[in-house]
Amino acid sequence: MRNFGTIEIEAQRSLHLLYASNHIINCVIKMAKAIIQKAFKFRICEPSKIVLTRLEQTLYLCRQLYNASLQERRDAYQINRISIDYQAQQNQLPKIKTTNPEYKNIHSQVLQNVLKRCERAFDGFFRRIKAKQTAGFPRFKGANRYDSFCYPQTGFSLTGDKLTLSKIGKVKIKLSRSVIGKIKTCTIKKEIDKWFVIFTVETSAEPLPKTDKSIGIDAGIENFITLSNGTQIDNWKYYESSQKELRRAQRSVSRKKKGGQNGKKAVLHLRKIHQQIKNRRSDFQHKLSTHLVKEFDLIAIEKLVLLGLSRGILSKQVHDVSWGSFFNMLRYKAENADKQLIEINPAYTSQTCLCGNREKKSLSQRQHNCSVCGYSNHRDIVASEIILSLGLSELAQTKAVGL
Ligand SMILES: [Zn+2]
Repeated sequence: MRNFGTIEIEAQRSLHLLYASNHIINCVIKMAKAIIQKAFKFRICEPSKIVLTRLEQTLYLCRQLYNASLQERRDAYQINRISIDYQAQQNQLPKIKTTNPEYKNIHSQVLQNVLKRCERAFDGFFRRIKAKQTAGFPRFKGANRYDSFCYPQTGFSLTGDKLTLSKIGKVKIKLSRSVIGKIKTCTIKKEIDKWFVIFTVETSAEPLPKTDKSIGIDAGIENFITLSNGTQIDNWKYYESSQKELRRAQRSVSRKKKGGQNGKKAVLHLRKIHQQIKNRRSDFQHKLSTHLVKEFDLIAIEKLVLLGLSRGILSKQVHDVSWGSFFNMLRYKAENADKQLIEINPAYTSQTCLCGNREKKSLSQRQHNCSVCGYSNHRDIVASEIILSLGLSELAQTKAVGL
C-alpha cells in the first residue's frame, strides 16, 4: 500500500522529469535557432546547345505562364473584385499541359513555383493597400524582367560539379567553394548572357570569436556609412568610375538606330555595364559587412524603413537600394556568426548630442557643435555615436527584463 510519502516522492520525481523535459525542449529550441539559411551562387559553364535551348525555352514559358496567371488574377479583381488563389490556379496546370504540350517539358514543381511567385506579388500588393501605402498593381514581366526559374524541392541533383536538372539535362558548374548544408531549393538565373545556379541551403550557424567591441553605424549623407569609431566609408569611388562608362554606353545607345543590329549591340553593352555596377556594389558590400561582423560583437544601425521619413535625404535615391541590401547582409551575417545586430528608431539621431541636448541642424550643416556641453565633431560621426549609445541602452533594457 502506498502512503502519502511515496506519492510525494513520485510527484517530485515527475516534477524533475518535467524540468528535465523542459530543459530538453529549450535545447531543441536553441538548436533550431542555430539553423540558418544560406545561399550559394555559381556560374554555369558553357552549356551544350541542346541544354541552352531548353534553358531559354523554360525561362520563356515560365514567363508566359507568369503573365497569364497575373492576367487572370487582374481580370478577376478588376471585373468582379474577387481574388483567385494559388490552389485554383494550380488546379489548371494539367489542362494547360494538354492544350499547350510544350509545358510538359517543364518539371511540374517549377511551374507551381511560377504561380507561387505570382501569388507573392499579389500578397504584397494587398498588404500595401491594407497598410495604406502606395500600391502599384503587380506588373507583367518583359523578357528582361523575368530572369529565373526555381526547383523548390525536387527535380535537381548535384554530384561534384555536375548538376542534373529534370527535363533540361546535365550542366557543369564552376564550383568555386563547397556547398555546406542541406540543399533546399535550386534556382536557375540568367544574367544577360550568362547562366547561374543559386542553391539555398539549411546549415548550422558558425559563431565567430568574440571581440568585446561594439559599433554604431550611421547611413549618412556624404558617405555611404560612418562608424562611431570615426571611420567614414565611401562607395563613390567605384560608383563614379562606373558612371563614366555608363554615360558612354548610354550615349552610344541613343546615337544608334533603334532595333538595328548596332543598336541591339549597344543596348546589350549598356545592360552589361548595369550588371557590372551591380556586381561591384555587391562585392563591396560583402567585404564590408563581413569585416564589420568579424570585428564587432554588437552592431547598432537605424531602422531603414523609417530612415527616409526622418530625414529628407537628398542622395536617398542613390543610396537607398545600397543600404537595404547592405543592412540585409549585416543581418544574416551577424545571425550566422552569433553576433548582435540592433536596429534603433532613427528619429532625432542626427539632431541629438551625447549629453542629451537636442538641436536642429540644417542639411548643409556638417559640423556638430553642442551649445550645452561644448562637444564638437563631424555630424555623421556624432550620429553614429548616438546610434551606438541607443543600441547599448536597448540591449541593457532587454537584459533587465530577462529576454
Ligand atoms: Zn552636448
